[in-house]
Amino acid sequence: MPPSSEQPRPAISVSVHLTRLVILVAVTLGLVVGVLEVTLEYFRLRATLLEHSEQVTKAFQNIAARAIADRDMGLAAQVTDGLFEFRSIVSVELSDETGNVLGWKERDQGDRYTHWLPFDIPSNQDTIVLRLSPPGSGGETKGYLKVVATSERATQIWANQLGMVLISVLVGTLVFACILLLISHRYLTRPMMELAQYFRSLDVSDPKNSPLPNPDHFRFREFRGIAEDGVRMMRDIARNSEVRDLTANELYRSQKRLQDFAEISSDWFWESDRDGGVTYTSPSFTKTLNKKTGEIYGRTIAETTTEDTKSPKWHKLAEIQRQRRQFRDFRYDMEVQPGVVKTVSINGRPFYDEDGTFIGYRGTGADVTNERLIAQARNEALQRAEQASRTKSEFLATMSHEFRTPLNAIIGFSSLLSMPEIVKASEDRLTDYSTAINESGQHMLALVNDILDISAIEAGKRVLNYEAVGIDSLISHCLSQVERQAGAKDIKLETALTSGAGPIVSDERSLRQILLNLLSNAVKFTPAGGTVRLSVEETPGEFVFRVADNGVGIPQERLPTIAEPFSHSAMHPHVAKEGTGLGLSIVRSLSVLLDGSFEIDSEAGLGTTVTIRLPRNTAEAPDNAANKQATSA
Ligand code: ADP
Repeated sequence: MPPSSEQPRPAISVSVHLTRLVILVAVTLGLVVGVLEVTLEYFRLRATLLEHSEQVTKAFQNIAARAIADRDMGLAAQVTDGLFEFRSIVSVELSDETGNVLGWKERDQGDRYTHWLPFDIPSNQDTIVLRLSPPGSGGETKGYLKVVATSERATQIWANQLGMVLISVLVGTLVFACILLLISHRYLTRPMMELAQYFRSLDVSDPKNSPLPNPDHFRFREFRGIAEDGVRMMRDIARNSEVRDLTANELYRSQKRLQDFAEISSDWFWESDRDGGVTYTSPSFTKTLNKKTGEIYGRTIAETTTEDTKSPKWHKLAEIQRQRRQFRDFRYDMEVQPGVVKTVSINGRPFYDEDGTFIGYRGTGADVTNERLIAQARNEALQRAEQASRTKSEFLATMSHEFRTPLNAIIGFSSLLSMPEIVKASEDRLTDYSTAINESGQHMLALVNDILDISAIEAGKRVLNYEAVGIDSLISHCLSQVERQAGAKDIKLETALTSGAGPIVSDERSLRQILLNLLSNAVKFTPAGGTVRLSVEETPGEFVFRVADNGVGIPQERLPTIAEPFSHSAMHPHVAKEGTGLGLSIVRSLSVLLDGSFEIDSEAGLGTTVTIRLPRNTAEAPDNAANKQATSA
């Protein structure tokens, strides 16, 4: 058994205590019983002594009577001496009837029985008086024998016996005490102390390694029982502590698991009190939304939103919470940073304490801003696709309409030419008819070419050849194409170039198409005597091409859709003469294809300016251009 930190009191002390108590009781009982016995004996002895005194006195009655009759002093002395032999008799007096004393004797105090007691014990004295009638006196009293007897001897015997009783009780008790001490120590105190020592050294925090008492070690059933109880108790504690350890481990694992989930997930957990004030959010709340938890603690969900909480959606949520029902995927907007609004989705269910009292709500939350943006983008894409599909249908319808007009002209005029009577009757107009057929055919061809162009650009099939294009040669080529038209209307063509403009690295064919379309539009929609001006401005990053005229201009309401295909038709019913209505559309598409921009500025009656901005690109590394070629190819 390992030594205990606290030293046990010596085992003997229990036995000593026990023995002391036993001695006290034994001595008291022994003394009481002894004293009682001795005292009873004293009373018996005293009675016996006084009785004997009377008997002895009576034995001397006859001799005393003769001494009286004979007035024999010697005999009287013998009587007194004889009686004095009996130590209980303390005085003897022999006297005649007249009172004359013939013999008298009284015992000295020193001749009496002595005792060892430090005090005098009161003793009884009996006076025995015998009438003396000597023979021949006729029974007449002739004298008296008076004897005083004492019970002092009984007292002394009592005192001596008392001493013996005291000594024997003390010695007997001492011996008994020693034996008792040994027995109690061997059979009671020692096993008790061993058990106490075991229990004292038990370590309930480590029951498995605690020493256990061995019940077989104990002789008495009671101690064995205690030892067995101890063993059982320690096993129970060990079992309980195992269960407790397992429970604690399981608790730790489940807490850790929850913590890991909470930390790894972008979703967060939250809790609110019975009034709806947020009391807890897991760390993911701050990580995901970049919003400090302190900013929403104590505030209800409705107090953290940027939405109008009077809307039916919020009323419904309030009603659900009032009825203590659970809710799922409640989405609302929250301003997480000034100007940054995120959409969150929360689930919640009420929770209660053991008594079933409602404590608050708890649940999860997730940032669904991306989801909302994706849905928004999807809707927009869908709308765009629907719009594109509508546009395509409209385009086809318009295109069919655009084709029908010149086709009708071709069919109409060619029908006329196929009727001999008509040919004969209007010979002078045959040239007009064939010219109309030709123009309609030309127009249809231009239409088909433009449509093919647009389709190729939109389908990414347009092949671009990037190369250094000289601005001067580009401009003079384009101007030469419209000079005749301009000259016919007496329109002045002007150019303005910032010094050192060019070359530009771009697709020359597209550049020419853009400028030609713009110039021919400008000439077409500028009355006679007007001016058309082409300017090229070179900045460090881009070339700005501007075609301006002081022609009819475009009404403001048409400007937003002016670059849509066939945007001319409403305004110009005689399309065959005016153009295909696809020119601006091609210009805008090509500008975008060349990584540039298209801008139109116009005012009805004052003129129109179209600005095309194109990136400068470098001859060495037209990265974008190379890519563009690749995609286009
Ligand atoms: P179109 O073949 O009819 O010229 P465009 O797409 O080039 O087709 O032009 C569309 C319409 O825009 C024209 O019909 C015209 O009404 C208007 N427009 C284009 N350029 C000018 C301009 N310089 N001045 C006035 N109106 C113009």
